[in-house]
Amino acid sequence: MIHPQQPMFDTLLRFSQHVQVIDECWYWDGEPSADGSYRMNVPKNGGGRTTMTPKRYSYLFMRGHLTGTDQIRTTCGHRNCVNPGHLERF
Ligand SMILES: [Zn+2]
Repeated sequence: MIHPQQPMFDTLLRFSQHVQVIDECWYWDGEPSADGSYRMNVPKNGGGRTTMTPKRYSYLFMRGHLTGTDQIRTTCGHRNCVNPGHLERF
């Protein structure tokens, strides 16, 4: 039997495999999708799956709640950084 939290662990593992930590920043090195954006496939709380940017995933997983209209930006000046400590919502 698959543990209910297994999809969350799998997603966190996939996330960590695409992060290069250099100094304070966590650089995302995943492949962009066809439109040039970076997307992750993530399990939803109530079941099913959704896609979101690695920045959004990092913020949600490690910092907390976001509303649908919240956007995420980096505060360190590195566009591909996904360090949750370098992300803010706006
Ligand atoms: Zn950074």
